[in-house]
Amino acid sequence: MSDCIFCKIANKEIPTQAVYEDDMVIAFNDLEPQAPVHVLVIPKKHIASLLATTAEDKELLAHITCEVIPMLAKKLNIAETGFRIVANTGEEGGQTVQHLHFHLLGGRSMQWPPG
Ligand code: AMP
Ligand code: ZN
Repeated sequence: MSDCIFCKIANKEIPTQAVYEDDMVIAFNDLEPQAPVHVLVIPKKHIASLLATTAEDKELLAHITCEVIPMLAKKLNIAETGFRIVANTGEEGGQTVQHLHFHLLGGRSMQWPPG
């Protein structure tokens, strides 16, 4: 997707300091952090949202949720205290960038229900 900002970050058209990167994903700090730790974990492949995932993406999604996020939570020292994962989806979900991303938020107490 040539006009997708997260594709541009993934393919280095926009220089970004990666918090973590491998062949499938890149993680970087959110531009407008909502918590002391606020990292976005995105697939390098363009997927518009969770609704656009297919069976082909199962390995990628398991990699993000079962491996990358727990590893980052430990690395960023929020595993013990706790953290929140958010994947805003669609208009009422509050999704503003149409490339699948997981917010990893931590370092403060989270409220419930979310706003
Ligand atoms: P969402 O509203 O769930 O779609 O989240 C999009 C997030 O991307 C927001 O938290 C923005 O602050 C963040 N964001 C947008 N552009 C950039 C960028 N160039 N670098 C880092 N974060 C960004
Ligand atoms: Zn994209």
